[in-house]
Amino acid sequence: MITLKEALNLSKDALTQFKKELQAEIEANPELNAYIDTNSLGDGVPIAIKDNIQVKNWSVTSGSKILKGYIAPYNATVINKLLDAGLSPYGRVNMDEFAMGSTTESSCYGKTQNPHASDRVPGGSSGGSAAAVGAGLAIAALGSDTGGSIRQPAAFCGIVGMKPTYGRVSRYGLGAYASSLDQIGPMTQNVEDAAILYDIISGSDQKDSTNAQKDDKVTPHLNSERKLRIAVLPKYIENASDDVKNAYTKAIKALKNAGHTIVEKEMMDAKYDISAYYITATAEATTNLARYDGIRYGNRVEGKNLEETFINTRSEGFGDEVKRRILLGNFVLSSGYYEAYYVKAQKTRHIIKDEYAKIFEDVDLILSPVAPTVAPKFGELAKPMDMYLSDIYTISVNLAGLPALSLPIMKNNEGMPIGLQLIASAYDEQTLFDGSLSLEKELNYK
Ligand code: GLN
Repeated sequence: MITLKEALNLSKDALTQFKKELQAEIEANPELNAYIDTNSLGDGVPIAIKDNIQVKNWSVTSGSKILKGYIAPYNATVINKLLDAGLSPYGRVNMDEFAMGSTTESSCYGKTQNPHASDRVPGGSSGGSAAAVGAGLAIAALGSDTGGSIRQPAAFCGIVGMKPTYGRVSRYGLGAYASSLDQIGPMTQNVEDAAILYDIISGSDQKDSTNAQKDDKVTPHLNSERKLRIAVLPKYIENASDDVKNAYTKAIKALKNAGHTIVEKEMMDAKYDISAYYITATAEATTNLARYDGIRYGNRVEGKNLEETFINTRSEGFGDEVKRRILLGNFVLSSGYYEAYYVKAQKTRHIIKDEYAKIFEDVDLILSPVAPTVAPKFGELAKPMDMYLSDIYTISVNLAGLPALSLPIMKNNEGMPIGLQLIASAYDEQTLFDGSLSLEKELNYK
């Protein structure tokens, strides 16, 4: 597959021809189930779009039955930015329902396969985006990351996935999961493409009140020769699988070879991250999902009166995982439990943020696992608690609002890719991309 950088230099005719071939390739590989459909808007370089980002006049469903048939009335800001840069939204890609999940098994369109093993998950929630790029069925894709949904599927599918600093990329037109954590980001074949796509979609937007209104770009200054101080976390990775530990060792060696200074640091026990995240995310999700009442959006299942219509619509429209989170979110926000759970989670969130800030007083980047294992087999994370625990290495980054990039390090002896992430301090995407580019060059992963 050609890279985004190469595609941006194709002539109009060559691009038209490329898109014909791409369409044929996608149709020849239906069992992957990465694409929900393959509409194209405009004649630019095709970019696959996660099914929770609005493209005007396209269906957008967040992988949920409750929104089937809903047509987006406007473009998300990131879509307008793509169009302005000569790119085209091309195809909607599969995802976990409302971005809740780590495997893309909860989509109303059925599961997506991992391009490296058909019996394994592609990760989630942006599993369609990662599988499409990993299978050579997309040049690049947009995903969204609330607690790892860009970085983890990227790691499982052997591609690059980047979550920007909270507020860098407009969330206008993104179907909300947990508004204080969600960010849209690039999923690409390599680090340079991620930087290019990040530059295109990031920047100020008056339509998103949480936008940081910053417009600085990274590609003009990309520099893989900078020598950085990079923190490693020997204790933090103790519970990771041997595959992931091997990749960690390999990455440390590569970083040293490239001339970076490795510094050992410690992080608080990550079990608190899980609690703080799942309380915060479900509380916000409950609130965001209240709008799906069968009256304002999407499908309606009529009842005898209004209340019954709400109940029927939501009972039939939402899947089990979404219902579970609505229950949990309502519980942690209910009077009597609000102080004990929600408020405590917010305090923990502050501690996590401070902990990162302290480490970044001394280093430029942190090297961390993305997931404890390689991509699991279908059904392996069927117990909700097992699935939540598998997010252990990604969610603190969202709680702290930091930028992070997941890149492939090596494959295990079964040929499954293992990715790791570099994490930077807030708004320091430049250092994140510089360091990632340096590591990628040194590893020479194919
Ligand atoms: N797996 C996490 C969750 O289900 C993260 C999902 C995401 O980042 N959208 O909440």
